[in-house]
Amino acid sequence: MGNEQKKNQNYDAYLSWRIACKCNLSCEYCYNHPSERAKPSIRHFLREIERRRERVSQVGIFGLIKALVLRIKEKKIRTSMIDIPALLSTLDKTNKTFRITLSGGGEPFLIQNIIEICVEITKKHYLSINTNLTSKKIEEFCDKIDPQRVIKIHASLHIKELERLNLLDVFAHNFLLCKEKGFNIEVRAVAYPKLFNEADKYRELFKKKGMEFTFDRFRGIYNGKEYPAAYTEQELAAFNIKHDALLDMLLCSKGTMCNAGYNAAVVWANGYVMSCGNIPEKLGHIYKGIRFKNSLIKCPIMHCGCPLKVYDTYLYEKALKENKISV
Ligand code: SF4
Ligand code: SF4
Repeated sequence: MGNEQKKNQNYDAYLSWRIACKCNLSCEYCYNHPSERAKPSIRHFLREIERRRERVSQVGIFGLIKALVLRIKEKKIRTSMIDIPALLSTLDKTNKTFRITLSGGGEPFLIQNIIEICVEITKKHYLSINTNLTSKKIEEFCDKIDPQRVIKIHASLHIKELERLNLLDVFAHNFLLCKEKGFNIEVRAVAYPKLFNEADKYRELFKKKGMEFTFDRFRGIYNGKEYPAAYTEQELAAFNIKHDALLDMLLCSKGTMCNAGYNAAVVWANGYVMSCGNIPEKLGHIYKGIRFKNSLIKCPIMHCGCPLKVYDTYLYEKALKENKISV
C-alpha cells in the first residue's frame, strides 16, 4: 500500500480487478470459503443488511440492496479465462496507462491464460498481483515478465493452510525466485487470532528459509468476536500490528476526499467497473469501455475497508494536484 511504484513507473489510472477464480487453498477465514458460499441466501442476505445497516443513510436502502445483490452474484462467478483482446481494446480506448491489480476472490494464477494476460498487460501498462504464491506458473511468470512493469507482488501467506497441504517450502521457493528476478514482492500473513501464540515460531521458521513477513489485521468473526475491533493489546503486540492509514479509514472515511471513480476504480467479478467496492456507481465494463468521472468525490461511507486512495497514494496525490485540492 502507499507509494509503491518506482520513480520511472508512471501511470494515469488504477484498476483493482476482483477476479473471481478458483483457489487451490481452503483457508478457514476466507470470505470465499465453500461454507460461506453454501449459506442459505435469504438468511445470509438479511444478516448482511443488518451488519451494514449504517450504510442505509449513506447510499440509501436501494443502493445497499443493489450492492449486496451484486456481491452475492459475484460469489457465484468463477472466471477461468480472460478475454484478452476485449480487455486490451477497453484499455486502448481510454488512452491511459494503467496500473492493474489482479486480486480477490481466488487465486489469479489458476486462470488458464494468466501468463498471456500478464505478458499483454505489461507491454504498455503496469501490473500488481495478489497471490498465495503456490502455483507452478510462478516460474514462467518470472521468466516472461519484466519486473520493471510490475509495481508489486502481494504474496499472502496462509500459514496453517500451507502447513496442512505441505506447501510451506513451495511458498518460500517461489518467494526467493521472485526476489532473485528483481520483483518488488511483499509477504503478508493474516493475523488470525488462532495464531496468536505461534507468531514468533513462524517468524523464525521463515527467517531460516530466507524470508520475512508481516501480519495484517484479520477482518471477520472468530470465537463470536468481531475483528479487528476485538484484538487485545497482547495480540496486537504479538502480531506486531501498528497504527496505519488503512486503520484510519476503517475508523472514519466519511467526508474525506477520494479519487475513486476519477482515476481509480474497482472491477467487480461480473466485469462491471465501479467507482469503488462500496459505492454502486457504474463507470463501464472491463470488456466494453470505461468512462472516468471529471472530479473527485467526498466519501459517503462511514468506514471504508478498501480505500483506493490508500491502496494507491501516487494516483490520489496526482488527482489532488490536478484538481488543485489541498487536504
Ligand atoms: S488463498 Fe485467499 S482466496 Fe484462497 S482460500 Fe485462502 S484466503 Fe481464500
Ligand atoms: S474511501 Fe472507500 S468507500 Fe469512500 S469513496 Fe474512497 S474507496 Fe469508496
